[in-house]
Amino acid sequence: MNQPVEAVRQRCRFESDIATPPPPGVVSLSFDDGPEPGATQAILALLDKHQIPASFFLIAAKAQRHPELAALVKAHPLALVGNHSWSHPNFHDIAPGRQASELERSDTTLAALEAPKLFRYPYGNSSCEANTQLQQLGYRIVGWHVDSCDWAFDKTGGIDAHEAKICGVDKANREHFVDHVVTAVKARKGGIVLMHEIHPNTLAQLDALIQRLLAEGFRFAPLTDAGFQPSLR
Ligand SMILES: [Zn+2]
Repeated sequence: MNQPVEAVRQRCRFESDIATPPPPGVVSLSFDDGPEPGATQAILALLDKHQIPASFFLIAAKAQRHPELAALVKAHPLALVGNHSWSHPNFHDIAPGRQASELERSDTTLAALEAPKLFRYPYGNSSCEANTQLQQLGYRIVGWHVDSCDWAFDKTGGIDAHEAKICGVDKANREHFVDHVVTAVKARKGGIVLMHEIHPNTLAQLDALIQRLLAEGFRFAPLTDAGFQPSLR
């Protein structure tokens, strides 16, 4: 157990891509970077339409600016509120003191909205210090099995070769967001899917994506589902 400090530090850093398999055939949708006027309501309406659950990892400063939207998510029976930090910094680029204040401030701001307490790092970039603090605050850390790469598709509806490589998007799917996500979900046999409220292309294609996943036989479950617990940290 006497591992070099640097090796331990490295292990604390990348916890975003979940290696643990999801419950087979079960998908959990997650939307980061909200609440976003218009988008939050549109996503909640789709949850109603299809009667499926989802998680919303809110930027606490935005939740404070839009308390009515945060309250809508909290009140929705199919939605869970998660914590996505106070101001969305890259935790690899800020000192431990600022990491601590990001967590404290977001925890205080979102406390009344969270049950259970779920945290997702901006960019998935974690640190040992923050992991420890999150555990002390009672959070589970949530990564993803499937990166929709919706930020890249959002620019033109397609994705260029460089981005496709970063995101693991098959060549055939570079112009097809829904096909990419369905392919990736099938490859993982379900899983937690990372998306963002703030990208119009995501919202425009979300209904079609949900319909395709249902047609492919996937079931939707919240992050509180017992089958997802081994995938949380
Ligand atoms: Zn984010």
